[in-house]
Amino acid sequence: MTIYAASVVDTPGDPFAEDPAAALAEDGALLVRDGVIRARGSLAELRAAHPDEPVTRLDGGLLLPGFVDTHVHFPQIRAIGGMGLPLLDWLERYALPEESKLADPAYARAVAAEFLDGLVASGTTSALVFGSHFAPAMDELFSAAERRGLNITSGLVVSDRELRPDLLTSPETALADSADLILRWHNRGRLRYAVTPRFSLSASDEMLDACAQLLGEGVWCTSHLNENLAEIATVTGLFPGARDYLDTYFKHGLVTERSVFAHNVHPSDAELALLAETGAAIAHCPSSNGALGSGLFPLRRHVEHGVRVALGTDVGAGSGPFLPKEALQAYFIQQLLGPAGLSLTPVHLLYLATRAGARAIGLEDRVGDLAVGKDFDAVWLRPTGNSTLAVNLRHARDTTDALARIFALATPADVAGVWLRGDAVAGPGPR
Ligand SMILES: [Zn+2]
Repeated sequence: MTIYAASVVDTPGDPFAEDPAAALAEDGALLVRDGVIRARGSLAELRAAHPDEPVTRLDGGLLLPGFVDTHVHFPQIRAIGGMGLPLLDWLERYALPEESKLADPAYARAVAAEFLDGLVASGTTSALVFGSHFAPAMDELFSAAERRGLNITSGLVVSDRELRPDLLTSPETALADSADLILRWHNRGRLRYAVTPRFSLSASDEMLDACAQLLGEGVWCTSHLNENLAEIATVTGLFPGARDYLDTYFKHGLVTERSVFAHNVHPSDAELALLAETGAAIAHCPSSNGALGSGLFPLRRHVEHGVRVALGTDVGAGSGPFLPKEALQAYFIQQLLGPAGLSLTPVHLLYLATRAGARAIGLEDRVGDLAVGKDFDAVWLRPTGNSTLAVNLRHARDTTDALARIFALATPADVAGVWLRGDAVAGPGPR
């Protein structure tokens, strides 16, 4: 057992449903045994109750729940920074040529290591990962995630039209390859499987039907939705009988409480109502939306309809795996929307980067906050020296103000420690 003495800050509440101040919690210490938080309170309380336990001091900065990324593409970690193109041109020019290279398992192994190490270095401890089009590459991702102890939900990406030929497969092969991966990896330790049609633009009705056949036993589903106007027009043309984009998934049974759709920048009210009714969640990826010029995310409409929203970095259209930056971009976009936007507080940003993600991917009973009984998945953000963040934290009025300064200024260089089920896996640790 270890007592961690730190500024422990999390959001056990929901700032979208209550006063944000009431959604925030803070304490001075956690008691961790076998990777699980066993007690929480002031350092004096925990020392008095457990006088023989060693104390690890994490002085300065904030100890937060590990970040939860609900949309990030593992095969695109080497393809960040492609500028100046909208979605469909960006895919063709930057993303898909790189994704083709993962046909080589050795290449995929190197990329999986770079990708997962990038998540850990950014304080991300759980993620819904958009996978590769190649089954051997998925074996590389899952085995590397298992070795690191990360909470990873992912699956083979399947498409049977519209993409470059080497990324296409048949519904029969997709079904067989996915079923094989599910047998080997789903619910193994901290790993789970997500059925992953790339988007209905590149998946026929037969392919979406094959995806539906794989659901069950707690298998998840993830895809893209309403990202860009040209994409939506193409989907509408490909599915003349569908009511809207969401219906292309819904009519195959792919919209459930275990579904997460990325983007939804241009939803209809009917689509928002159906998302709320089914309990499906949206991964909001503001950096990507800005980079590809996709649009300004209507968060207020999602919240008013009761649709669950979390954050995704959408690497490589997004600008890196560090979720606090994504939260800041989400804040900017709502400010830019003016009266149509939903002005976000620092408590909203912490919630979106942690507990909202855990809820969206069904892990809220294990991670997303630092309550007693949860896994000790945590990130310690502590700037060094006289960095601008260090200066600002010294002048923060209170915890909420400190959070605001962290979301404005923190970078992966400020990650001083990361824990996965109690194991310290990154950063120089206590100092
Ligand atoms: Zn994406």
